[in-house]
Amino acid sequence: MKAVVIFEHGGPEVLCYTELPEPSIGPQEVLVRVRACALNHLDLWVRRGLPGRSVSFPHILGSDISGEVTAVGENVKNARIGDKVLLAPGISCGQCEQCLAGRDNFCKDYVLFGSTVHGGYAEFVKSPSANVIPIPGNLSFEQAAAVPLVFLTAWHMLFDRAHLRPAEDVLVIAAGSGVGSAAVQIAKVTGARVIATAGSEPKLAKAKELGADHTLSHVGEFAREVKRLTNGRGVDVVFEHVGAATWDQSVYSLAHGGRLVTCGATTGFEGKINVGYLFARQLSILGSFMGHKSELFSVLALFQRGLLKPVIDSVLSLERAADAHRRLENREQFGKVVLRIP
Ligand SMILES: [Zn+2]
Repeated sequence: MKAVVIFEHGGPEVLCYTELPEPSIGPQEVLVRVRACALNHLDLWVRRGLPGRSVSFPHILGSDISGEVTAVGENVKNARIGDKVLLAPGISCGQCEQCLAGRDNFCKDYVLFGSTVHGGYAEFVKSPSANVIPIPGNLSFEQAAAVPLVFLTAWHMLFDRAHLRPAEDVLVIAAGSGVGSAAVQIAKVTGARVIATAGSEPKLAKAKELGADHTLSHVGEFAREVKRLTNGRGVDVVFEHVGAATWDQSVYSLAHGGRLVTCGATTGFEGKINVGYLFARQLSILGSFMGHKSELFSVLALFQRGLLKPVIDSVLSLERAADAHRRLENREQFGKVVLRIP
């Protein structure tokens, strides 16, 4: 099969368009002919190499996968050849206490497609049958691939971690990213007032089109502007994933009792907190990673009803994976960069 693989860690130039053998499936697995695979920041981290995380080469990146089922293992009951599917990005054991409690993202065996197991930058991928989900509504393959990881992540952050309640004020940092554009939409479904930030005027305009009530640049001291927009109060929830560059201003944007939830640190992992400020204002700082598989079904139900929509920045053919990586690395995108595998 055709695939984009890495044989070593490094810059976008290590992505090689080449041939690999098709994967063979076990009795509880499904073979999917990949039609689209969306990029995530995780792809950049894995390509560069993460300290303490090893992958075996050659490795195939890509966590957000859609396609058609072309073969099923003998014990598979939930998928048939020809089904149009997307893949839940997280793979877990399905048998431990956390998995059985529905907290599969806490499973000690939890991995993502494209992290330590092969992902979707290829014509074929094998998947546990438990990860195979029918594409909802009339979504195209490209649209379906743009949904799972970022909408699941944003949903889990806002509801399971930050306990967003109807009609609260939410500040979404970097609304132009995949996860940011998902957060704006999910928050709006709850009737939230959404303040969205971005780094450029065109992105701010697009955030408004997605439903943001107010937009502002996250370059510089935006907390003052957030306070002004909320009559000096600050927001109930800050949706963070940028890290070092925005951390201080994100903290200062919180109302008393506010919750800051974060799933990433694309500009750096260091963030300070004044402990006095934290306890006197009764703030909560919450970490979040992926989400429960059951939450993905809630997300997809809202896509089925047309209340959420995929945000696609661009679609490139598989062999242009390096260009796609550069687009993400340079923060040129608004929404998801998707690879198409014809
Ligand atoms: Zn488990």
